Amino acid sequence: MSDFPTKARVVIIGGGVVGASSLYHLAKKGWTECVLLEKNELTAGSTWHAAGNVPTFSTSWAVMNMQRYSTELYARLGDEVDYPMNYHQTGSIRLAHSKERMQEFERAKGMGKQQGMDLEILDLDEIKARYPFIETHDLAGALYDPNDGDIDPAQLTQALAKGARDMGAKILRFTPATGVTQQPDDTWIVHTEKGDIACDYVVNAAGYYAQQVGEWFKPYGGRTVPMMVMSHQYVLTDEIPEIEAYSKEQGRKLPLLRDVDVSYYFRQEKHGFNIGPYEPNCKAEWAGSPEEVPNDFSFQLWSDDLERIEDIVADSMERVPLSASAGISRIINGPIPYAPDGLPLIGPMPGVKNAFENCVFTFGIAQGGGAGKVLAEWIVDGVTEWDMWACDPRRYTDYTDHDYCVAKGMEVYGNEYAMHFPWHRWPAAPDKKLSPIHDRVKALGGVMGAYNGWERANWYAQAGDDTSEDSTHTWGRSGPWEQRIKEECEAVRDAAGILDLPGFSRYRLQGEGAAEFLRGLCTGGIPKVGRIGLLYFADDRGRIVTEMSAMRLDEDFFFLITAATAEWHDWEWLQKHMPADAKFTMTNVTKEFSTQILSGPKSRDILAEISNADLSQGWLTHQSAQIGETWVQLVRVSFAGELGWEIHSKVEDTATVYDMVMDAGAKHGLKPFGMWALNSLRIEKGYRAWKGDLSTDYSMLQGGLDRFVKLDKPQDFPGKAAIQNEKQQGVTKRFCTLIVDAGDCDAPYMSSIWKDGQIVGETTSGAWGYRVGASIALGMIRPDLAVPGTEVEIEIYGEKFRAVVQEDQPLWDPQNERLRA
Ligand SMILES: Cc1cc2nc3c(=O)[nH]c(=O)nc-3n(C[C@H](O)[C@H](O)[C@H](O)COP(=O)(O)OP(=O)(O)OC[C@H]3O[C@@H](n4cnc5c(N)ncnc54)[C@H](O)[C@@H]3O)c2cc1C
Repeated sequence: MSDFPTKARVVIIGGGVVGASSLYHLAKKGWTECVLLEKNELTAGSTWHAAGNVPTFSTSWAVMNMQRYSTELYARLGDEVDYPMNYHQTGSIRLAHSKERMQEFERAKGMGKQQGMDLEILDLDEIKARYPFIETHDLAGALYDPNDGDIDPAQLTQALAKGARDMGAKILRFTPATGVTQQPDDTWIVHTEKGDIACDYVVNAAGYYAQQVGEWFKPYGGRTVPMMVMSHQYVLTDEIPEIEAYSKEQGRKLPLLRDVDVSYYFRQEKHGFNIGPYEPNCKAEWAGSPEEVPNDFSFQLWSDDLERIEDIVADSMERVPLSASAGISRIINGPIPYAPDGLPLIGPMPGVKNAFENCVFTFGIAQGGGAGKVLAEWIVDGVTEWDMWACDPRRYTDYTDHDYCVAKGMEVYGNEYAMHFPWHRWPAAPDKKLSPIHDRVKALGGVMGAYNGWERANWYAQAGDDTSEDSTHTWGRSGPWEQRIKEECEAVRDAAGILDLPGFSRYRLQGEGAAEFLRGLCTGGIPKVGRIGLLYFADDRGRIVTEMSAMRLDEDFFFLITAATAEWHDWEWLQKHMPADAKFTMTNVTKEFSTQILSGPKSRDILAEISNADLSQGWLTHQSAQIGETWVQLVRVSFAGELGWEIHSKVEDTATVYDMVMDAGAKHGLKPFGMWALNSLRIEKGYRAWKGDLSTDYSMLQGGLDRFVKLDKPQDFPGKAAIQNEKQQGVTKRFCTLIVDAGDCDAPYMSSIWKDGQIVGETTSGAWGYRVGASIALGMIRPDLAVPGTEVEIEIYGEKFRAVVQEDQPLWDPQNERLRA
């Protein structure tokens, strides 16, 4: 084949909407020497049979950004590439049956406003006015999304493909990729049935085949793609004369309905309806083992299984009684891939150089536009406009085995529209990674949460406390945990608390040049030998990539410690920057060590009884010592903001150490405390949390991290020039701490901050501070307002509450006297 391309900058495997959008966006950025391989015809995977709904609604900031962008793109794409499409922005009405649901809608409305969208809350009359055929008597209200609608997924894919081709990109249909080989210089050969293509980067956009394709990357450091496949059905009804008459008279389609509490979408399709349930008694396909996914399922469907969805369909017919007058004309039952949290995998392929993922989309039609943009940014710029951690493949690590993926996928599907309450834990597939003292923690009442698969206590229940899932269905602060969190915080304040923290990510960096490497990579200074310090890392735009604690044991010997969830992300960040000729080594030793946080004014007395350590050593120091006969590393830091130590030990010694501390602590009032108390304690100190307060949405200077930036050091660390420039120009936002006259709820992530009728910022986290007795929010605000005493309002689930900007210092123990005690 003469025009078969043997070279490309990027090869994309998969010609669904996401692959086509990736190619289009790469070409838009000027990367036109790119090739898309599709084993069958474009759209042959999930795309061809999708219902084509395109919502913007999400309570994830990143996902809302992506979906909003898709709607903006789709509205102009037909003209832009000269490929007219059926895209109907009909608006949508999302129904609420409860107060909590209305609060969720208010929150999405607030986030939408920050993104420039005008989502509206509707009362029952307004619902009826926009949708005359609906029954509203049992509803609480609704959310109207004017941007929502439906698109023909095949036309959308073809339009993106045409746009890409017109710019010079190539699409090879009926050309299955059959494997990949990485070259010594880390570039790739992609093998196809028609020949090989040499390229710089490969993208796995293979939809529900992504796990199969992912296997090819294992020899080059890859892992099993965490995913499974669900069967999803929608029902098409016959045409209904009243709908036809209404549409003609109004000159438009009815808005799309979603009854999210019952769990279905309901959309006008021609002059009938398309009803799509997400049924709780759902069905995973090819679930026995990954090998069950057939080599080719192009343009195929499964046979109908109406029984599974008939209750929900019947409910929808009561909601819109007119629909019951029509017969069912067709049922579509096709595959949708699911990652364990239902969000796609977009970004660098974990462990593999020059390979990316843009796959496992549950809502690929709605997200495809945005996903193409994000992927092109990852490849061309190395960074994305919006922080995309929610969809980053590295958010999963080594615990997502097949059974886990199946259990979680089914759970997400069956609760596709469920509310994600901050106190709620989704119960499927727990206990992936356990601390050696897991049983002890549970026996003490630990109510567990999963952190990168590691089980940690969120709070400690006492006999008689309600630990049911039902009790967690609230956005409010109150619940069975509230009194316990308060007691745990008070114990840390007045006596001491202990928190078992398995899975604290940890890398050993050792050998000649290690210190110089860190100096050249982080934004600030590095600690002296014997001390521990916080290191921040920025990207070339000066935005916050991550934060790690560096424990320096020798001139060129460090332990870097970082969040459990950051394990693969931070590892790759360091690896990516390691010089090829490095004389030092870096090892991930996360699983070798465990950590207990011991914090509170009595912690010194407790340790004095059981350890030989020099407990007079100051804040931010560390030492090797013994607890009883057992070696530990005692690190004098406290994320809780009290006198305290982190006790690091070999993982096999966890129980010995824990038992000794607990025994010694009994008479000093030592209490176990959980992650939720820790969150309250850290926010009182203004300590930032990764991927909430610290993200690539903000620069180091916006984040108020100036004291961790050393512009006068000789090393040209990533972000230096950008930070220098921003310093001269001035920041557009500034981190601040606020005290909020909140009601029942503390401010969740991305609550709007208002002043004089304008949005002037957003919160990045919020919680009740039990030591200071106030609701606290951390956030970003217009710099002229980041002045102590400034009064603003924070919109929390639709209600505005007075808030006051605080001094730029911790609310609790501003001079760190307790930490230094
Ligand atoms: C019934 C139903 C209704 C849906 N409704 C909606 C909706 O209303 N809105 C919404 O947003 N989403 C909806 N979805 C989900 C949506 O269809 C998917 O999320 C989306 O199509 C995924 O697109 P994709 O490009 O990632 O994957 P796919 O469309 O599956 O594309 C992957 C492509 O990769 C190709 N491929 C695989 N392996 C190879 C190889 N080795 N070489 C070359 N090519 C290969 C496949 O042939 C396939 O064409 C629905 C899904 C179903 C089943």
